[in-house]
Amino acid sequence: MRTVFIYTDRYADYDYGLAHPLKIVRLKLTYELIRAYGLLSLPSMRLVETREATEEELSLFHSPDYLDVLKRGSQGSPAGDAFMYGLGHGDNPIFRGLWEWSLLATGASIQSAQLVGEKEADIAFNIAGGLHHALKDRASGFCYVNDPVIVILWLLSRGKRVAYIDIDAHHGDGVQRAFYETNRVMTISLHESGNFLFPGSGFEGEMGEGEGKGFSINVPLHPFTDDEIYLWAFEEVVPPLIRGFKPDVMVTQLGVDTFYSDPLAHLCLTTNGFTKVIEKLKGLSIPWVALGGGGYEVTNVARAWTRAWAIMNEVDLNDDLPQSFEGMGRRLGFRGNTLRDSPLSIPEGKRQEARMEAERVVNYIKKSLFSEICSL
Ligand SMILES: [Zn+2]
Repeated sequence: MRTVFIYTDRYADYDYGLAHPLKIVRLKLTYELIRAYGLLSLPSMRLVETREATEEELSLFHSPDYLDVLKRGSQGSPAGDAFMYGLGHGDNPIFRGLWEWSLLATGASIQSAQLVGEKEADIAFNIAGGLHHALKDRASGFCYVNDPVIVILWLLSRGKRVAYIDIDAHHGDGVQRAFYETNRVMTISLHESGNFLFPGSGFEGEMGEGEGKGFSINVPLHPFTDDEIYLWAFEEVVPPLIRGFKPDVMVTQLGVDTFYSDPLAHLCLTTNGFTKVIEKLKGLSIPWVALGGGGYEVTNVARAWTRAWAIMNEVDLNDDLPQSFEGMGRRLGFRGNTLRDSPLSIPEGKRQEARMEAERVVNYIKKSLFSEICSL
């Protein structure tokens, strides 16, 4: 197994603002925990410094006028009509350096795709990527540049067949929309139902259009969905569809806002369920471009992505945090003393509701899609 972790300390130069839920410091925190566990000096891995994407690479997906507006805002002189592009107060603030931040987050994703696409690595992980809501000419849901779409387009241009699997709590709407009418990309998103959470889409009936019909798959889940229900739904849907589709590369968005303690969403996963999903993804044995995603409780983010990176490298980790991490971890906002969560207990009535809804959705998907896709 050859793995690559892509990172730069330059991420820490940027900040969405004090009151914004997306804390870029979570990347540094994750990097430091991974390092403290000794996971950046494994013989099978390489640590690669992030490079900036080029404007041409961003133009693979985004419109020139939108990119101009982003650049101007980043320099502190936002265009008068920036709000028309989803920019401004609230979700998508115009902060100084947002252009450079976007170039770095996207550049690391393209590096991941290059390394995996050109068979120099089996797995590449960019924890700064996975900004799945951005549209061609609009910022959305804390995302300015849609790096998953750009890397999928990059892989398609090299003749690859790509599966995109999105396990963020929010629907991967920007990616779904970009590939809704093609059968060269299969998108699968498991998320909290749009009835309860932004962006309000991703229902099971959204399956693609034209040639793309049957190649967009959505698994909307109810609040209180826990590890067991989530894993069951994942196992029922993802491996059979991926085996049927036979991709050359899988691109995954590994958002960690599905956790019970995340402040923005209402699913009830723990690090233990998340870890099992990562094991299942690894078990698919497909060249793997792994991207980050949401996650608004920074301790969860660091613990979950550290465990993910350990699984990618087939390493078992001790539950006690390394002593060398403690001071730095506290300073960066880490709370708690262990890597793993304790098992969680959900009120039985709520759990039952979540289970029934997951069963209904999974049955619907199987009835509608499986005979077609799994016999490809
Ligand atoms: Zn999210």
